Amino acid sequence: MMTDQQAAIKINQLIAYASRALDLDERDKVFKTNALLDLFGIAAPSGECPEWSDFQTEIADPLVQYAVDKGITDDASRILFETRMFGLVTPLPSAVTDKFFALAQKRGIKSATDWLFALSKANDYVRMADINKNIKWEYNGKMGKIGITINLSKPEKDPKQIALAKLQPKSGYPACMLCETNVGFAGNLNHPARQTLRTIPITLDGEQWWLQYSPYQYYEEHAIALSDEHRPMSVTAKTFARLLDFVDLFPHYFMGSNAALPIVGGSILTHDHYQGGLKVLPMMGVGNRVKYASERFADVSFAVADWYNSVVRLSSKNKGSVHDAASFVLGKWNEWTDESVSVICRTDEQHNAITPIVRKEGDVYIVDMILRNNRTDKEHPYGIFHPEERLHNIKKEGIGIIEVMGLFILPGRLKKELAQVETYLYGATAYDEKALADENNAMHKHAGMIAALIRKHGTSLTPDKAHAAVIDYVNDACVQILECTAVFKNDEKGQAAFARFMQDGLELKPLA
Ligand SMILES: [Zn+2]
Repeated sequence: MMTDQQAAIKINQLIAYASRALDLDERDKVFKTNALLDLFGIAAPSGECPEWSDFQTEIADPLVQYAVDKGITDDASRILFETRMFGLVTPLPSAVTDKFFALAQKRGIKSATDWLFALSKANDYVRMADINKNIKWEYNGKMGKIGITINLSKPEKDPKQIALAKLQPKSGYPACMLCETNVGFAGNLNHPARQTLRTIPITLDGEQWWLQYSPYQYYEEHAIALSDEHRPMSVTAKTFARLLDFVDLFPHYFMGSNAALPIVGGSILTHDHYQGGLKVLPMMGVGNRVKYASERFADVSFAVADWYNSVVRLSSKNKGSVHDAASFVLGKWNEWTDESVSVICRTDEQHNAITPIVRKEGDVYIVDMILRNNRTDKEHPYGIFHPEERLHNIKKEGIGIIEVMGLFILPGRLKKELAQVETYLYGATAYDEKALADENNAMHKHAGMIAALIRKHGTSLTPDKAHAAVIDYVNDACVQILECTAVFKNDEKGQAAFARFMQDGLELKPLA
């Protein structure tokens, strides 16, 4: 265990780090040093401040360990404590907001987001050390590149932590993970600490919203816009007005909304919010398959994007026109039924929905509208346009906005399980069909994948070839998952149905 004197030196280094990386104001140094001495139960500061090479491992981690050793926090609460520590040396929301807008005015909005994003990493709100553990690769599929990430950044909770979490009283505050009331929240074993979160107030369509970064960073500068009010997700004409306002404020970012229905929506339907960031998602890079002209919206271009699922793409320099056109498409899609392709807009509840994504290229607004439907039936209890059950070993959860744009976030368990699948292909694990058929077998969910791979490759591959075969399988599964979400399949029948929606539903004329 470190002595108090050694810990006092690290506190000094933390203050020095905050001056360099977290905009700690010189005038607040004494105050913050005293706050840290109080947090760690240390009587007096140190005069020493040696240089360091890796801040996280040389200073932050040892300070948290010191707090655990001293009984100030416990092993299960390390991240909560670290967040509290970094929160103390991060500027207050008022100072962050003032600096953000001062930078935006002086050097442009990109400088402001660059600064806020750097701050969010430097105070470990965005835990890059964890995010860098993710396994990522790209695959060039038949309709363009997709990205695949095995998500190892969310630390797996051990059974002890899960048991402790269950005992925590539920206060109902903050109302959800997204509410603005999370800023500065100390957290507990059921709710992450957010003392390091800083949000920026923005006005979208005359309404108060907030911009923040996602702590998970599934892609570059993964940002979230959230409504000031805790109210359910909904996609209406107002959504387009807000998204279009957003890209006027932040033209270097895209912003989109999950569909507002279960199965096709995201994991949080209870708080109206959007996701955006740098324009790096695969769907944005693809061209158009068919272009259309509209008499009703003469200054808006309509097209079907050349993508795995069903995307209506609008573009125009006229913000008002593109807003009205997008609202028109939404209204028509919400009411569109084509039983020849199993699209039924409504039974006793609404099934058709849209995932809208807005971006700006120069002075042109581009609105991508991914057509979705969440209906289930007897043969498809998980959803007619949801990954088929044979693909659930790869992904069973709802396919939300990030995935429909071609970036797959796969569960961390797959790292271990896929390595286990490989062992069958190079003969280290004997293939036993009966054992895999047992539901209690940990590899049962992969039985179909293992059988298919063995049929194709046998069981005497080299480990390298086995790995490549498993990755090929996952790539193909991800493409199939995307295709499952297509309401109009990429075959003759599906595309004819898509053309009917464009021509009859939206009153458009195809361009040669
Ligand atoms: Zn909320």
